[in-house]
Amino acid sequence: MRLLGSHVSIAGGLHKAFVIGGKIGCTAIQIFTKNASRWEAIPLDDEKISQFQDAWNTSGIQTVIAHDSYLINLGSPQDELWQKSQYALFAEALRCEQLGIPYLVIHPGSHVGSGQAQGLRRVARALNRIHQQTPGHSTQILLETTAGQGTNLGYQFEHLTAILDLTQEPERLGICFDTCHVFAAGYELRTKEGFQRTFDAFDRLLGIKLLKVIHVNDSVKPCGSRVDRHQGIGEGEIGLDGFRWLMTDSRFETIPMILETPKGRDPVVSDQHNLRILKDLCKTIER
Ligand SMILES: [Zn+2]
Repeated sequence: MRLLGSHVSIAGGLHKAFVIGGKIGCTAIQIFTKNASRWEAIPLDDEKISQFQDAWNTSGIQTVIAHDSYLINLGSPQDELWQKSQYALFAEALRCEQLGIPYLVIHPGSHVGSGQAQGLRRVARALNRIHQQTPGHSTQILLETTAGQGTNLGYQFEHLTAILDLTQEPERLGICFDTCHVFAAGYELRTKEGFQRTFDAFDRLLGIKLLKVIHVNDSVKPCGSRVDRHQGIGEGEIGLDGFRWLMTDSRFETIPMILETPKGRDPVVSDQHNLRILKDLCKTIER
């Protein structure tokens, strides 16, 4: 069974995500395990954990992926924010472990003027500390490819290679590939040849084996714009062909694919619409 779904809300409680995911028709969902725009979170108690796991077990959802809070910056040159970010990510990793969530997707971070090399070193050092604080944890942190807005790191595959090379336990990390971000960062996905070149580069620099989750989003902004604006599938600059190749590529058949496309007035209806497009593309014979 394909693992397909979308990022869903946890309004009303973490377990509510399975209700929404079920309505959309997801077999995989992505959630924030806490309010993503706040530092603090109420720690999980046994009741909340079992409520989450019961809802999961009785749903048709096979896998759950978590995404980290927007406030975290592991690349920050400012010690206070850097430490705060490490603690916040540690707390999120702990929540994922308690909930049985296998993957926690994170944005690598921003160097905020300190330079890419320095930023990448900070990210790796922060990840080392988090790994040290979570020995034996099974939740894996996934570094997400970014569009490269501002001083964001991770818009070239080489940035992620550098982070892996600089960490002490790289085997505990994986990669989340976001189609909108990668395209906006300047990698081609609109032509068959460009699509192949992009994934060849990914394989050479990181390895397809490290690819654990794909964020499936079209892009409002053109290739190389380095602006992160998600669009509905087939309605943006990437267009349907890129997604057809993605959905029919046997290398990605078992990888969870998550929509983060804009939600209209009724989020369930928007997600159902985009999910339908992806399911239809899976069935198409490659042209
Ligand atoms: Zn994403």
